[in-house]
Amino acid sequence: MCTVCGCGISVDAEHSNNPGHAPGKSSHDHSHPHSPGHHHHEHDHLPHSHDDHEHDHQHDRTAGLLDFGNGRAGVHIAGMGQERTISIERDILSKNDAFAATNRVRLQNARVFALNLVSSPGSGKTSLLVRTITDLKDKWPIAVIEGDQQTSRDADRIRATGAPAVQINTGKGCHLDAHMVGHALDRLSIQSGSLLFVENVGNLVCPAAFDLGEAHKVVVLSVTEGEDKPLKYPDMFAAADLMLLNKSDLLPHLDFDVSACLAAAQRVNPRIRSLTVSARTGEGLAAFYSWIEERAYAVADPVP
Ligand code: MG
Repeated sequence: MCTVCGCGISVDAEHSNNPGHAPGKSSHDHSHPHSPGHHHHEHDHLPHSHDDHEHDHQHDRTAGLLDFGNGRAGVHIAGMGQERTISIERDILSKNDAFAATNRVRLQNARVFALNLVSSPGSGKTSLLVRTITDLKDKWPIAVIEGDQQTSRDADRIRATGAPAVQINTGKGCHLDAHMVGHALDRLSIQSGSLLFVENVGNLVCPAAFDLGEAHKVVVLSVTEGEDKPLKYPDMFAAADLMLLNKSDLLPHLDFDVSACLAAAQRVNPRIRSLTVSARTGEGLAAFYSWIEERAYAVADPVP
């Protein structure tokens, strides 16, 4: 998770109003995540004889692969042992889970149905939300929490629909955490019985690990991104209950294989549901709204 880029290391959520980072903490000041012996391995092979071709071909198959996924933490942080890294990772997530549990109770008490939208940057989350709010706002009270590293552009777009929105700027942080969302809930005047959409920071990796107290994570994947993304970034697709394949209006211009993408997502998460949608044309959105409403009726209240 986030200890790879260092983004969660300085989280002191109980005592900080800026829980993402301590001042001066660089997200990318770690050294290269391989052992000192690694280069020797490569250099040893530079003056390689070509007498043994079979050996060469076997070596070629793995020569370009550096796999750091097999260790317990699977990461290296300069000056920090694996045990310490694991303990920090566990600590960050357990603190986050406690805040998420508080948010969840708070949302339940307010009868608010919350979805956490996660994706890469540029998948169309904000456009999808603007369209969804426009289509559903006469039927449901809706509020939005926007997460971005900088600017309030997305919250401004949401407010233009008439829905209340709070923008969280994470600075160097690459994900929202439950503590930030708790503060946003303090500021957002959410009507009881609302739908709440949380738009996470565009990042297909770190937001997967952070429960915000939502009812469901919804992963948005645009068809311009490639159908193998669920296999490359499995944690996100494993954490989501619904995948929205967005920008379907572009499919005639692309080689994107929808069924291969669904198969990839289901290989990572056999329970995941999938809908092909276009925020631009509205294709598939009725099915998305049904998916929301089937779950929201148990929690929230439609406008009478
Ligand atoms: Mg956005």
